[in-house]
Amino acid sequence: MKNLLPRFLEYVKVDTQSDERFNTTPSTKKQWDLAKKLVQHLHIIGMQEVSIDENAYIMATLPSNVDKEVPTIGFISHFDTTPDFTGRNVKPQVVKNYDGGSIVLNKEKNITLSPDYFKELTNYEGQTLITTDGTTLLGADDKAGIAEIMTAMEYLIQHPDIKHGTIRVAFTPDEEIGRGAHKFNVEKFGAQWAYTVDGSQLGELEYENFNAATATITFKGKSVHPGFAKHKLVNAIGLANEFLNLLPNNEKPEHTEDREGFFHVHHITGEIEHAEIALIIRDHDLEHFNARKALLTAISEKINKQFPESVQVIIKDQYYNMKEKILPNFHIVEIAEEAMKQLGITPIIKAIRGGTDGSQLSFMGLPCPNIFAGGHNFHGKYEYIPLESMEQATLTIVKICELTAQRF
Ligand SMILES: [Zn+2]
Repeated sequence: MKNLLPRFLEYVKVDTQSDERFNTTPSTKKQWDLAKKLVQHLHIIGMQEVSIDENAYIMATLPSNVDKEVPTIGFISHFDTTPDFTGRNVKPQVVKNYDGGSIVLNKEKNITLSPDYFKELTNYEGQTLITTDGTTLLGADDKAGIAEIMTAMEYLIQHPDIKHGTIRVAFTPDEEIGRGAHKFNVEKFGAQWAYTVDGSQLGELEYENFNAATATITFKGKSVHPGFAKHKLVNAIGLANEFLNLLPNNEKPEHTEDREGFFHVHHITGEIEHAEIALIIRDHDLEHFNARKALLTAISEKINKQFPESVQVIIKDQYYNMKEKILPNFHIVEIAEEAMKQLGITPIIKAIRGGTDGSQLSFMGLPCPNIFAGGHNFHGKYEYIPLESMEQATLTIVKICELTAQRF
């Protein structure tokens, strides 16, 4: 376990920010810098079948050490960091024996990490926290996951008394721009199921996410001189406004939580002859999700009755709730839950209000819930992670391998 922290510190110092403006995989060349290092490290700890493909997807195997047939399972994390906040020149600070008070991240810029605002900090009194210097993100999302998987594999290699089946690991680029699963070769990976180690606080275990779609709604108007417009002019802006008014007012991101779905209008442009609305639809429940899509069509039909062929709705599905693929194989979740319990960790099971690589992978044939990596405040300068949570994540991975071999 002693390599966990140095490994993590080494990984976060490499800038691996992804960028959705580029269509290559990885989207940014600098992701190769860490990818190559990870390949080396996998070799060094003694992993087998270490491979990296032309898109920087890394895979490796820890061979089974039991005689019986045990399902092959996998662990996955991503090495890119979000485009939302700079990941250049990360200078991690290690705060030992955290006293429960405010941590000065940057004296010059007067940036502090305070439990007044980030209440959960007090849970970590006495622990070792890794923070930023207030000018960058940390990159615990998801270099913590990588360091934990790497260290768990090293631990299993060094402790052959712990019995396990074949374990596959994968490190992927471009998760933060929604493309981490796109070029993932599920067949080559060859696992029956896997876990993304990409959750937040200690104990998180997630196997539900949104069903997601985008909708583009276009409105056609008719411009006529406003002085002579009675019964002639059709204002596309007005139609767009009417459309928005017919959406349920409370079903917006700012009014919803937990398992409540929503419509989120994120873009609107308009003039008299043409207007356009872009929105996203999110719902955990598949029936509700479909009802939301049907509502958009119904509203457009209503307006079209009054102003024929003035509204057009184009809906595109983005991803689906992985629950559908996990429930028929629920032992995947039970094993992770049991692993945490045996380690004295209270599992925190909640529905993700977003998507994960795991949800895409689940629909590509690799059921893939998400477990905690231990960090907090992802995607910004207040990001931090307790070393103790990282150790627990590492042990959870080890325990999942062990329990899988026991169960089958
Ligand atoms: Zn992540």
